[in-house]
Amino acid sequence: MEEEHVHNNDISEVILTEKQIQDRIKEMGEEITKAYNEDDDIIMLCVLRGAVLFMSDLAREINLPVVFDFMDVSSYEGTSSSGMIRIIKDLEENIEGRNVLIIEDIMDTGLTLKHVIDLLKTREPASLKVATLLDKPDRRVEKEVSADFNGFEVPDKFVVGYGLDYKEKYRNLPYIGVLKKELYT
Ligand code: 5GP
Repeated sequence: MEEEHVHNNDISEVILTEKQIQDRIKEMGEEITKAYNEDDDIIMLCVLRGAVLFMSDLAREINLPVVFDFMDVSSYEGTSSSGMIRIIKDLEENIEGRNVLIIEDIMDTGLTLKHVIDLLKTREPASLKVATLLDKPDRRVEKEVSADFNGFEVPDKFVVGYGLDYKEKYRNLPYIGVLKKELYT
């Protein structure tokens, strides 16, 4: 199997293989390319740190002029939402009158995204869209928040890999899996 060289004993179940992720990202790149005019320039805004791998793979599948920017917001401590969201690093670009595509790793309660969207709207971008790799619809608290481009729906389980961490580990796994229960503290 292709994952064998990165088999990790802490993972109980692989939910999405490397191939499934990469194939879907290619499709998403096409969807996104079609959703804009060919001369639109797009600010791809990566929400750190989980979306870094998704952003770098997705960017290569988008056939439009793109600019990269990054913002860091606090979200989770361990595996449950703290409900507290804080801007740790703001983006660098002036987004007024420009097309912003927020790149998220996973939409869970939607609280992070709601906060980021509300903040960015005050800066009057020409358009504001969201691409998320994973969506956990069962957990949504912010019902009016949704992604314009969504990779996969996942069940209500804590997942790691392909950018997603547990206590900063497992981000470099090329697939997405569920951590063994005994590893949660
Ligand atoms: P929300 O604000 O939508 O509840 O949470 C969004 C953030 O929580 C994500 O960007 C991610 O950092 C974290 N998160 C939510 N669910 C998971 C999960 O299953 N695994 C990991 N590793 N992080 C998650």
